[in-house]
Amino acid sequence: IAATNRPENGVGLNSFLHVDAEGALAQAAASDARRAAGAPLHELDGVPIAIKDVLATEGLPTTAGSKILEGWIPPYDGTVTAKIKAAGLPILGKTNMDEFAMGSANENSAYGPVKNPWDHTRIPGGSGGGSAAAVSSFQAALAIGSDTGGSIRQPGAMTGTVGVKPTYGSVSRYGVIALANSLDQLGPVTRTVLDSALLHELIGGHDPMDSTSVATAVTGLADAARQGAAGDLAGVRVGIVKELQGDAWSAPVVERFEESIEILKGLGAEVVEVSLPSFVHAMAAYYLILPAECSSNLAKFDAMRYGLRVTPDGDPSAEDVMRASRDAGFGNEVKRRILIGTYALSSGYYDAYYGQAQKIRTLIIEDFTKAFEQVDVLVSPTAPTTAWALGEKADDPLANYLQDLATIPANLAGVPGISIPSGVSSVDGLPTGIQFLAPVLEDARLYRVGAALE
Ligand code: GLN
Repeated sequence: IAATNRPENGVGLNSFLHVDAEGALAQAAASDARRAAGAPLHELDGVPIAIKDVLATEGLPTTAGSKILEGWIPPYDGTVTAKIKAAGLPILGKTNMDEFAMGSANENSAYGPVKNPWDHTRIPGGSGGGSAAAVSSFQAALAIGSDTGGSIRQPGAMTGTVGVKPTYGSVSRYGVIALANSLDQLGPVTRTVLDSALLHELIGGHDPMDSTSVATAVTGLADAARQGAAGDLAGVRVGIVKELQGDAWSAPVVERFEESIEILKGLGAEVVEVSLPSFVHAMAAYYLILPAECSSNLAKFDAMRYGLRVTPDGDPSAEDVMRASRDAGFGNEVKRRILIGTYALSSGYYDAYYGQAQKIRTLIIEDFTKAFEQVDVLVSPTAPTTAWALGEKADDPLANYLQDLATIPANLAGVPGISIPSGVSSVDGLPTGIQFLAPVLEDARLYRVGAALE
């Protein structure tokens, strides 16, 4: 049931913010030379990759989709960039994204929206719409995304690609322009589950440069994908999340989800329903925790250290320069979240908002713990709808936030998740995605089940 991709539709997507043709060709030639010399090669040596513009790449512009970072060229590589270079993958360039990874449609990019390769009048999902569109349309074999509330998995569902949010802390965030530090995670965007497993193994592992990096390495991912590909899920217990069903889920999505569940049963999986009652509060908690964290992260864009500087006429003070630069450099969604976050963190409101949200977060972690005593993996559709028309929800932040219903709980709890294509809907002809979630550090389970269903 893997979705068929649309290579012919790769022109004019606006999926890349920067293409490094020269650099990629030089890296490809170096890879050819290594192969010709019989040097030991990483499995992905020579496979071209695209990197979401949220990750620092030495010498290549890195904007996080924002005008405030226009023209910034990092003097260093993020850890994941360094690992990719060391393994010999040519880096094609940097992919378009919602500004500072805030969005579900890629319409919040300061550099224009990305088109969905399946239908150029539709959104590709967000915030990693560029990476997903590039992989779906065969512009890149692999891509890196970042997932704070679903930005790898939801674009995966919208474009028929595989997207993985690894266990929190298992892939280094050194060199990632932070959205919300307690939620952010880099991960693979690919066309197959095995590709994701290979890329995940390459980019994962402990990093002393990231204070949230976990000591234990997540291993056995490619082996799990190969085991899963044999199509035997006997003894695997799969829990359908009760709270991620109902009216919010559109007919095209439900159609393919139900079909996938039957396929899982046919492969021998034991499928039951599991309740995680706190999930109904996940979105409210996320949209307090995320703005709170990002409002403090974005304070560093002060027009003094790097990026855009707008100097008003006359004899402006430092504050005048900051105000003018932030006014010109940040888009509406970014400003909205700074305002919400600053408000939620103000003294007197902290307990009522941020404190409450953290309590919900604890309940969600407890719900996951209980659920994983009953089942090996949880399952739900990745997103409530298929890709909608460009512009349709552009002025409706809440409609965009609702896209994250199924993906957010994993970020709040730190557990890993995968979205794989669940087929093209017979209702609207668009791709759909199915999501699996596993306990912390048990990422391998996602690859076994995902590869079996693929
Ligand atoms: N749609 C979510 C948001 O806007 C997801 C963000 C993300 O994962 N980067 O916050």
